Amino acid sequence: MQSESALRLVWIYPDLLSTYGDQGNVLVLEQRARSRGIPVETVHVRSADPVPETGDIYLIGGGEDRPQILAAERLRRDGGLQRAVARGAALLAVCAGYQIMGTVFSGDEGQPVSGIGLLDISSHRGEARAVGELVAEADPALGLPKLTGFENHMGVTKLGQGVTPLSRTVRGVGNGDGTEGCYAGRVVGTYLHGPALARNPALADLLLGWVVGALAPIDDTWYDRLREERLNAVLSD
Ligand code: GLN
Repeated sequence: MQSESALRLVWIYPDLLSTYGDQGNVLVLEQRARSRGIPVETVHVRSADPVPETGDIYLIGGGEDRPQILAAERLRRDGGLQRAVARGAALLAVCAGYQIMGTVFSGDEGQPVSGIGLLDISSHRGEARAVGELVAEADPALGLPKLTGFENHMGVTKLGQGVTPLSRTVRGVGNGDGTEGCYAGRVVGTYLHGPALARNPALADLLLGWVVGALAPIDDTWYDRLREERLNAVLSD
């Protein structure tokens, strides 16, 4: 039973999509909420189970092509995530999870597979795999410092009119056109692993702030050290 006062996190399909430590995004949100005295309840939804509609922040990670197809089919049939977003829940979708939020992506044979249409994007297979560190300047409207992470995907993503690029790449490939990720309302998609929220605590606080309002500052010493080390390593190349 979920209580009314707790922040409700929903981690979607850990049995299908959770590569490169993306589950860390859940841990970071839990830790940053609890440090501020906000109680948290997390539900891990396996792909055979319905997606609860009462969550505050939903998270979905990256994965291989076939589990990605299965996840898209199950999410489409389930409809719980779509209903949650329609009533104002926030969502962070990473890599395969990001592509699934679009209208279409490429399957394991390059075939088009329908996404669930929460973001106005379409993805197809690129010429070469994008692998490596990524650094990007966030959309100034979001007030975030540089974004850091790493990427590993074949997909190239085209943004439609209904979304805003999350950032512009300084290093790495991202969407493939000089932009990285995108957002619309409270739905954020990105190719950043790392996990993304451990590398970018300000992005974690953006999601938390949308749901709980103003946030007190907390000790970011270890996050800052990780960011400094990664950004220095990549930008001094
Ligand atoms: N299968 C997708 C691609 O290669 C997503 C990969 C991932 O999630 N790391 O584009």
